[in-house]
Amino acid sequence: MQNNSVFWDAAERADSFYVYFEEIIKNHVRELKSAFKGVDFLYSFKTNPHPRIVKSIVEEGFGADAASPGEVFLAAKSGLSREQIYYSAPGKKISDISGALGKCVIIADSISEIERISELAASAGLCESIGVRINPDFTFYSDTGECSKFGIDEELLFAEADRIKKLPGIKITGIHVHSRSQELNADVLKKYYDNVLALAQKTEKIFGSPLEFINLGGGLGIPYAAGDLPLDTERLGSAVAGGVALLKAQNPGLKIFAETGRFAVGKSGFYCAKVVDIKTSRGKKYIILSATLNGFIRPSIEQLITSYQKENPKPCEPLFTKPGAFEFIALSRKGTEETEKVTLAGNLCTAADVMATDIILPKLSVGDMVAVSNAGSYAAVLTPFRFSSHAKTEEFFLDINQKLSCRL
Ligand SMILES: *Cc1c(COP(=O)(O)O)cnc(C)c1O
Repeated sequence: MQNNSVFWDAAERADSFYVYFEEIIKNHVRELKSAFKGVDFLYSFKTNPHPRIVKSIVEEGFGADAASPGEVFLAAKSGLSREQIYYSAPGKKISDISGALGKCVIIADSISEIERISELAASAGLCESIGVRINPDFTFYSDTGECSKFGIDEELLFAEADRIKKLPGIKITGIHVHSRSQELNADVLKKYYDNVLALAQKTEKIFGSPLEFINLGGGLGIPYAAGDLPLDTERLGSAVAGGVALLKAQNPGLKIFAETGRFAVGKSGFYCAKVVDIKTSRGKKYIILSATLNGFIRPSIEQLITSYQKENPKPCEPLFTKPGAFEFIALSRKGTEETEKVTLAGNLCTAADVMATDIILPKLSVGDMVAVSNAGSYAAVLTPFRFSSHAKTEEFFLDINQKLSCRL
């Protein structure tokens, strides 16, 4: 746990808030940079677009994985150039595409989207280099593909290659393959990356021209629950280094990217909520916090899912990872050795805003706080702050010089 005084400083200004520690972000980002030689990284803005976080990551040399025109805008605002911003999302509207032309590398997500980009680029007199997102004929765990709303099935893309090559206004210069998130097994990722590199070579052969970039996608996981072992980034990095170096030797202009959101910032954030009331109902003790579901929704989703399925519920990122994914830390001014069994609930008028049920915590009083771990990624961005018209949760950033700033 980080220095508690930071949380109390923040609590002077807000009742429920996130705190992000830049030092933790820098450590994670630098770990990736030193483990993966020959691979460049893109930061997945959707995990947390807080401007200070973006700045901290971008200044380490990361580009952007943008999932919307808004994220393309934020990435450009952070100083990234067109070649450093990759816009990949299903269902881009005409206005999304025309607004993105020339500002980023657009990754087409379907055959009809390739045609749409071609039409718009050609009518604007441009020749746009674009990427395609491929739904490969393999997954993390199998040598055959699955159906997906993302990307173009590998077989379909190759069957259409001759026609696509002739489309005006565009040139396909890269591929993007992303299958899933939150993998902790380096061997699984290594095999997947090898498969993507092989798919890239196949793409070059079928399209008859060298690629300018290969985006390996995301997947780098972080430990959530007790017992999760951290991903061995050094082992993974050295395992893929050979394949990466070989392709780059054959094609010196080639860029190879990996994407990450949560590995960079997931561990850097804590969500904190003040205790506003404490009550006991028929023997059950409730700690009522100033915002739970409407401050950090993921623990409540975990409660919901595990109430229906206790044994091995399937992950569904970024809403649900696994049981026990968040640690609850009592921050009390008095500090006490005494513990008690409590249920952490919120101040919304719905029974669904429960963060934790019957957990053992040090004894809390009104005015104390509960901090929740693993709140850097898919946390503030998923907050349903419109619900019940409560105030938005504040976000604090503690920079490496220990200076605390707030966002709102
Ligand atoms: C969300 C997303 C990521 C980032 O996933 P993390 O688990 O946060 O690292 C990477 N690539 C794509 C295409 C995504 O949609």
